[in-house]
Amino acid sequence: MNQLLTPYVTERALGLLDGPRWRPLEDALATFVADLRARPVDEEAGEDAAARTYLLRLATAGLLEWVVPSAYGGAELEEGHAGGLSSTAICLIRQWLARESGALDTAFVMQGLGSYPLALAASEPLRRYVLPRVASGATVCAFALTEPEAGSDVKNLRTTATPAEGGVVLEGTKCFISNAGLADSYVVFAREAGEGKPRFSAFFVAGDAPGLSVIRTRVLAPHPIGTVKLERVFVPDAHRVGEPGAGLKLALGNLDVFRVSVGAAALGLADRALAETVGHLKRRVQFGKPLAEQQGLQFALADLATEQLAAQLLVYRAAAARDAGHATSEMAAMAKMHATESAQRAIDRAVQSFGGLGVTVGQVPERLYREIRALRIYEGATEVQKLVIARALLDERG
Ligand SMILES: Cc1cc2nc3c(=O)[nH]c(=O)nc-3n(C[C@H](O)[C@H](O)[C@H](O)COP(=O)(O)OP(=O)(O)OC[C@H]3O[C@@H](n4cnc5c(N)ncnc54)[C@H](O)[C@@H]3O)c2cc1C
Repeated sequence: MNQLLTPYVTERALGLLDGPRWRPLEDALATFVADLRARPVDEEAGEDAAARTYLLRLATAGLLEWVVPSAYGGAELEEGHAGGLSSTAICLIRQWLARESGALDTAFVMQGLGSYPLALAASEPLRRYVLPRVASGATVCAFALTEPEAGSDVKNLRTTATPAEGGVVLEGTKCFISNAGLADSYVVFAREAGEGKPRFSAFFVAGDAPGLSVIRTRVLAPHPIGTVKLERVFVPDAHRVGEPGAGLKLALGNLDVFRVSVGAAALGLADRALAETVGHLKRRVQFGKPLAEQQGLQFALADLATEQLAAQLLVYRAAAARDAGHATSEMAAMAKMHATESAQRAIDRAVQSFGGLGVTVGQVPERLYREIRALRIYEGATEVQKLVIARALLDERG
């Protein structure tokens, strides 16, 4: 049990997956976390201020370099990493950060989710301009795909890109966009007029582009998010990301890389829940002895610890497969689904174990309870992951 609760992921789950190689990154994360605990960021001061402080600290610790390919100021990777990013590193970082704060994890991952399409397909000058700034935290990123009529059904996008002299004009509404209003760089997906099937394309839009406006919304846990309105936003040809019609492939490819890491963030939240639960059960005395001595509660702990390790193996297996260039969509889907669903159960158990304290504002289980919920919805809700897994199974068998 003690080993399950040690913070070093590589010692617990990555023994099978070349764990010792990741020890230097985990040491850097341990230093980062120790510093954060010594000098906590005041999230009450506001989502945007907290996000900017987190980004500065992550950049100073060199952690943002892991979401940018090395040619543009990112971390040097060993040979053979598919796509120029290491999914394993991103997962490790998210697991460590999410143990401390969901807002910190969001600040980190949005730099990757919002910039990786640029790394893959933007023009060379645009990459050279934006990506080093992403690694230094100077440019804040957003990924704008979801729309009021296009959530799980991404092909139902209504935002249009209409040809104009020297570029296109974007018109439409994006919703649930993380970093809306905070971002300097948006990757926007839109439908382009053309013969035959609808063509979806991607565009870089600066945060201060004329015609872009934001209405902030609030979700359960601190998370900068909002609706982005695009009213006659002109995008020059040089800011196109990829070929016309290649947008959907780019969006889904981006999500395929980052979806596994949502599972890793869930692992971090569940790690914290399990550690808090064990600590509380040992401390809290009822009926003349610590709750930890009640066999019914011990059984619950045993189930959670087992589920947690299984989730960890799924996540790091999917990440390692992607890094080696033989990932499949269903591997990522299984990892994301199982890790987020089992984390929800672990956190619910933490709340239950704390009793009234579990729902008291300011207690860790209460915060985790709010932080985990959205992970089962974004980057493909659990039901959508099931569709991906079932389709793969049926195609293979068929
Ligand atoms: C905190 C947060 C941050 C987000 N950040 C971003 C971001 O940065 N950029 C971005 O583009 N989007 C972002 N999103 C949007 C997110 O990706 C969508 O909310 C998600 O894809 C689900 O879409 P929806 O909300 O429209 O739900 P819907 O698609 O309306 O789904 C509603 C429910 O129906 C289920 N469902 C849908 N279709 C099926 C089906 N065929 N079979 C069975 N069940 C089905 C879903 O699983 C879900 O449970 C974010 C969302 C949240 C909550």
